[in-house]
Amino acid sequence: MDRRTFLATGTAAALMPAALTASAAQGDSPRTQHTLPSLPYEYTALEPFIDAKTMELHHSKHHKAYVDGLNKAEAEIAKARESNDFALIEYWSKKAAFHGGGHALHSLFWNIMAPPAKGGGGEPTGTLADMLTANFGSVERFKKQFTAAAIAVEGSGWAILHHRHSDGALIILQAENQHKLTTWNTTPVLAVDMWEHAYYLKHQNRRADYLAAWWNVVNWQQVQKNLKP
Ligand code: MN
Repeated sequence: MDRRTFLATGTAAALMPAALTASAAQGDSPRTQHTLPSLPYEYTALEPFIDAKTMELHHSKHHKAYVDGLNKAEAEIAKARESNDFALIEYWSKKAAFHGGGHALHSLFWNIMAPPAKGGGGEPTGTLADMLTANFGSVERFKKQFTAAAIAVEGSGWAILHHRHSDGALIILQAENQHKLTTWNTTPVLAVDMWEHAYYLKHQNRRADYLAAWWNVVNWQQVQKNLKP
């Protein structure tokens, strides 16, 4: 899938920071300043499952740092291209992958959560429920595997449900940090942040408690929208 096709899909456009889609639509260089997206709800909205202080720090400090880090890395790579000095290209390429991964995954993470009264929690229905059952045996088995994968993330990382393009399968993988151990040719449709900053204030080292609470705010309708058409 080329970039134009990717941007044309509603799912991709919904996850893209506005500045990026606007730039691409104008036919300019697709590289631009990345911006921190607004949350689709208040910091307090996911209480009591995810506390407001964690949400505020996570969004305004941690996600912001990934946006800034991605902008910095891309600016340095552009400078290297202009000066034809690629001595630090490995360093900045790694930074671009790390911060770019963080920006993309957090943008996804905020969107697949919602307050319980506004679409969060409950059980998946329709196409998504059918696909989860076909791929994992049942929704319950999917949730067990996803929870186990998340709890078992070594150090800082994520559990991610991917929609694979080649055969339409749903697969669960872990990501170390924001960008390692992933695969290609898939669309991430559901992700849970297992970095300590996502849960430590409220749950300390009890990852299972964090996940038990987190399932109450998963926005299944958004997960279904994230599936590749
Ligand atoms: Mn995070």
